[in-house]
This record gives sequence, C-alpha cells and structure tokens, in this order.
Amino acid sequence: MRESIIRLGGIWDQLSSEVAGGASPGPRARGSRPPVKLSVVSLIMDVRVAAREGSEDLAHRCTPDAIANLWLIHGALVAKPDEDLIGWWSDAVQEWANRGDAILAPHALERLYGAICPICASVSGNALQDGEWVKVPAIEVGWDDDSVKVVCCRVCGSRWDRDDNLSGLFDRMMTDNQREVLHLG
Ligand SMILES: [Zn+2]
Repeated sequence: MRESIIRLGGIWDQLSSEVAGGASPGPRARGSRPPVKLSVVSLIMDVRVAAREGSEDLAHRCTPDAIANLWLIHGALVAKPDEDLIGWWSDAVQEWANRGDAILAPHALERLYGAICPICASVSGNALQDGEWVKVPAIEVGWDDDSVKVVCCRVCGSRWDRDDNLSGLFDRMMTDNQREVLHLG
C-alpha cells in the first residue's frame, strides 16, 4: 500500500491540474479546448470520496487532501492491522494508480483506427502531441502481452476493463463500424 500511495501521490497533481486546466467557464466552443476527460474526473472523485470516508472511519479524522487521507488510513492500518482492510486498501490504491497512469500515459495505449465508441459514437478525438492538438482515433486499446487489457474512448472517457466482456465490446465496435462503412458507401 505504501508504494502505491507514493505512486498515486506522484501523479495526483498532474491529474488535478488536468481538471483545473480543462474546466473552462462558460459555454464550450466546439473545436477549441477539449472537454475535461470524464476518466480524470471520475478517478479523482473515486479517490477523494473513498479516502475521506476511509480516514474518517479508520483514523477518526480527515483532511481536505485525498493523498494525506490515504496516509492517515495507512497509519491507522499500521497501528491496528486488519488483514481484510489492508488487502482492500492496497488493491484500491494500486488500481487508482494504474488508472492514473493509463490516463497520463496514453502512448501506452494503441490507437484503434476506424472503431466507433458504443457510448458516444465518436470515431476520432483530439490528442495533445508536441504541444499541438491533433486528430486521433477515439478508441484506444491497452495490451497486456497479447490479450486486451483495457479499451478506452478518449472523447467521452468511457473505459472498459478486462472484466467488462471485452470481446463482446470488440464485436460491437466492429459491427457498428461495418454498418457505418456500408452506410457511407
Ligand atoms: Zn466515447
């Protein structure tokens, strides 16, 4: 858990600044600044809520800082070890750090050209490349050896993990894609 908190703490500021930087006031001008990624917002909310509730439960106090709350939880579990709770928190923090890494290192994902997002129906989205916004495929795939580990849509922030029936999702994307191609043709 200790290593995972350090890892999550290292990427937390970057995640928070993505939200702060992307949240432009007023109506969103199409084509200017891309919207805040839902994946970032949902990760930050997941961590904030769980860390606050966890530190209130286990350490009987909490701070406005999510990472500081995780350290309070860590301290409470060191002081009074509970195998189940330690296992739960270790897995949770590791998963959050993995999600953060995947968001901040999209180059680790492979772009899937021509696939259509089943949620927002996007085929392409914007990515920051060498300081400039460029058009890239909406759907990205993360590989773990030779099996699909995660599928993400950079436009709406939808994310499907291995447990979410990825092969069914793939079939759906490809069927939608063929339909679109036929429709356009
Ligand atoms: Zn989408």
